[in-house]
Amino acid sequence: MNGEIIAIGRELLMGELVDTNTAYFAQELANAGVTVRWASQVGDDIEHLHEAFERALDRSDVIITSGGLGPTSDDLTREAVASVLGEELTVDRDMVSWIEGVFKERGITEMPRTNIKQANIIPSASFLPNPGGTAPGWWVKNNGSDIFLTPGPPREIKRMWNDHIGPAIRQMTGSGVVHTRILRTAGMTEGGIDEVLSDLFGQENPYLGIYAHTNGIELRIIARAATDDDALAMTEPLEAEIRRRLGPTIWGADNDSAASRLGDLLVGSSMTVGVVDSGTGGTVASMLSHVPDHARWFRGSMVTGPGGSPLATPLLESMLGGPAGRTAGAVSEAAAHQMAVNARQLLGADLGIGITPPSADDDEQMKGTIFVGLSSPDGEKVVRGRFYQSADRALPRAAMFVLTEATRALMADEV
Ligand code: AMP
Ligand code: MG
Repeated sequence: MNGEIIAIGRELLMGELVDTNTAYFAQELANAGVTVRWASQVGDDIEHLHEAFERALDRSDVIITSGGLGPTSDDLTREAVASVLGEELTVDRDMVSWIEGVFKERGITEMPRTNIKQANIIPSASFLPNPGGTAPGWWVKNNGSDIFLTPGPPREIKRMWNDHIGPAIRQMTGSGVVHTRILRTAGMTEGGIDEVLSDLFGQENPYLGIYAHTNGIELRIIARAATDDDALAMTEPLEAEIRRRLGPTIWGADNDSAASRLGDLLVGSSMTVGVVDSGTGGTVASMLSHVPDHARWFRGSMVTGPGGSPLATPLLESMLGGPAGRTAGAVSEAAAHQMAVNARQLLGADLGIGITPPSADDDEQMKGTIFVGLSSPDGEKVVRGRFYQSADRALPRAAMFVLTEATRALMADEV
């Protein structure tokens, strides 16, 4: 079954809006068993929209669009479909009442007249409910093709997909259940993982994919089957084999973030964590603070300014335990260890994490090097990483490194 995505909106072509809807639909359609062959962006222009729909109807079984369903005169998606199919738009009275209801709920008693336009429909279309906004979608059936019109806002689209479009398309493709399992890794390159798993790639079902993300390299297993149990039975042996080969490289799965996974492990062993941070500008503390239950296990963090600066030195010295620490040099294994021990003492934590400033040394091997110390009653460890990009890239990467290293050390019972 061929699929086609059309993202509609003038802002897209002006570069003012990044088209995330196409990426979302592309992923969902593939999961539902549709082969997406074309995706395009079209401005809010009746002629160009007409042309896009005409071409899409010619070549695609499923067409899905986003945008242009607003109440204003520049939202023309409905008009374009009506004109391509040669059908008349009429106002659906029930839908008008429904939209009026949405406005009442928002405390607006008088619905703007322009919104009546959103209740327009053609004979070959039915409405797709939109509980998140005033623009209902359309499902058009025409000569064996199905067109789904959805509004622009990504949140509204997601609900419409999950509640209506996804199930409808799954029924058409007979793809049954799709089970996706994500395994999250750290410490190996994409090429390195590819080498170890090379014979597992290339299968259709279950499919194994590898993707590099800002939060590391992830492996994605996608299994299609008639039932949940069947899909799971296909996923599990492959996951077990991957885990056997990659071992501690895998630190988490599915929706785990590095911080949430660390939190889960801490809760599991009734531990708390404290951080002395001269290397990520508080990014580690920020990531930990985004985990909903962090109050249970996150004691706190002390953060200094940039290493080597006169402003940061006094605080760094106290984190390092006085001049003794200073002589050890702030960017060293010994400093990271001392900072981790101090993190436990100063913050009263079971697991202490110490992060040195990045080395300013111009030496190729050292530039941007940080040392991360981990200390708990059960063990101690120091690891090193290098992050020499500009701050907006280096800080999140360094923080991810710190959190995944702490997670992996806890998983391996090293700390
Ligand atoms: P529209 O219905 O075309 O007026 O779109 C309403 C809003 O939805 C826009 O202002 C964007 O915030 C969002 N939106 C529209 N199209 C897209 C898209 N392709 N990707 C992401 N967001 C979009
Ligand atoms: Mg628009």
